Amino acid sequence: MIPVVMPTYARADVVFERGEGPYLYATDGRRFLDFAAGVAVNALGHAHPYLVEKLTEQAKKLWHTSNLFRVAGQESLATRLTAVTFADTVFFTNSGAEAWECGAKTVRKFHYENGNPQKNRIITFEQAFHGRTIASISAAKQEKLIKGFAPLLDGFDQVPFGDLEAVRAAITPQTGGICIEPIQGEGGIRTASVEFLQGLRALCDEHGLLLFLDEIQCGMSRTGKLFAHEWAGITPDVMCVAKGIGGGFPLGACLATERAASGMTAGTHGSTYGGNPLATAVGNAVLDVMLEPGFLDGVLAVAGVLRGRLEDLVARHPSMFLELRGEGLMLGLKLGQPVGDVVATLRANGLLSVPAGDNVVRLLPPLIIGEAEVDEAVGILDRTAREWVA
Ligand SMILES: *Cc1c(COP(=O)(O)O)cnc(C)c1O
Repeated sequence: MIPVVMPTYARADVVFERGEGPYLYATDGRRFLDFAAGVAVNALGHAHPYLVEKLTEQAKKLWHTSNLFRVAGQESLATRLTAVTFADTVFFTNSGAEAWECGAKTVRKFHYENGNPQKNRIITFEQAFHGRTIASISAAKQEKLIKGFAPLLDGFDQVPFGDLEAVRAAITPQTGGICIEPIQGEGGIRTASVEFLQGLRALCDEHGLLLFLDEIQCGMSRTGKLFAHEWAGITPDVMCVAKGIGGGFPLGACLATERAASGMTAGTHGSTYGGNPLATAVGNAVLDVMLEPGFLDGVLAVAGVLRGRLEDLVARHPSMFLELRGEGLMLGLKLGQPVGDVVATLRANGLLSVPAGDNVVRLLPPLIIGEAEVDEAVGILDRTAREWVA
């Protein structure tokens, strides 16, 4: 008999009852150090007192009105997001896939409005992940995402990640944009080099394409900058964000320049829930914390400590941990053992982590961890590796 909850996930057999900062407590009394953070969503940890306060305050006033009316929380959050990014305008969604979808539509509409409706194809990268809608799986083209869901949408041309010559060769008169995750998350914590991102920006400028970044996982302070592309000193034309932006409340956003979004006029796109008062109250609260002076410095400082400790770990257990990848608090360990087994054993030892492609275990702790949590996590990784060999 099919489970009442559609069995589309390989779930671990644990039910959590409550969370506090970087810890989760299960119904059976076990405590876990949460280096999964809801897949980079709980950026400020669990039950952050300020987020709880802002959510509760809003919950007592107004939850939802639809987008038939102005939403004050959207206006303030968009004003603040545009003030600290390349963007001039923001569309709010409930999820990452919807934010990505808005970005893809923005790219196509831009060229349509500019008299180039044929420029409707977007270049994407191998091992990409942009969500689970038909459009976003059509763009990512990974076998495990697309199998059984044909026909896929046309309009996406894929090239190897990091190969600028392949991108150049894939550009045709039909190309309208390039979409990339500055750090691939699901694909196995694969970081695009500064030179590669700069090269993509230059190719876009040369060929009149829009650069569309998917910062759903690597954005919102995860790498120690508000957005990962800042490390490369470039700006995109369009960017989708989600995960950390709501700190656990479903919220996503598509940011764009005025020029790129010139075709996104009244009636062209919409969402019933997207950016409702409850969601944007929490989004504003997350941003309050992240924009506090010193927040990003704190992320960088603890990330530096974690990186150093993980480098030592890899050196101590070279057959278990083959390589350390990633930036800031978006880290991955390429494993010499099957990732599913390692994630399960880490969990049994009290540490939550996330499997990724390429046999990589992702460490995506809340950005509020301190050195004590680094010690605890590395201690569990170390013990797990030692027990494995024994
Ligand atoms: C999680 C993720 C998405 C999809 O977000 P959902 O909220 O699951 O729809 C898209 N792109 C990237 C890079 C992601 O990490």
